[in-house]
Amino acid sequence: MTTNKSDSFKIDESSLKNDLENHTEVFVLDKLEEILNNDEQFNEICTCHNCLLDITSYTLNRVPAKYISSPQGSLQAKLIEFEQQVNVDIISVLTRAIKIISKNPRHDK
Ligand SMILES: [Zn+2]
Repeated sequence: MTTNKSDSFKIDESSLKNDLENHTEVFVLDKLEEILNNDEQFNEICTCHNCLLDITSYTLNRVPAKYISSPQGSLQAKLIEFEQQVNVDIISVLTRAIKIISKNPRHDK
């Protein structure tokens, strides 16, 4: 039982990572921008890099990740289906995240 390193299977991480995209991430960032632009109750909140990072991390830890591996044509259809499924969830978690983080930013006001 010897393991020969040169025979072991190697995953091409960088090439796979290039094609792996969590669509929830894209969707959450889009929605966050939309909410901050349109929701008057959040006019005054801090939108520094750290607070936005906290808000998106909080949200992404609470909604399912979505990776899609399919040819371009069917990708679009699957994305639309996904958006319809999670839209409400993401907005409600995001709204909660904004309220929590803006009340307790990890820095002085
Ligand atoms: Zn901040």
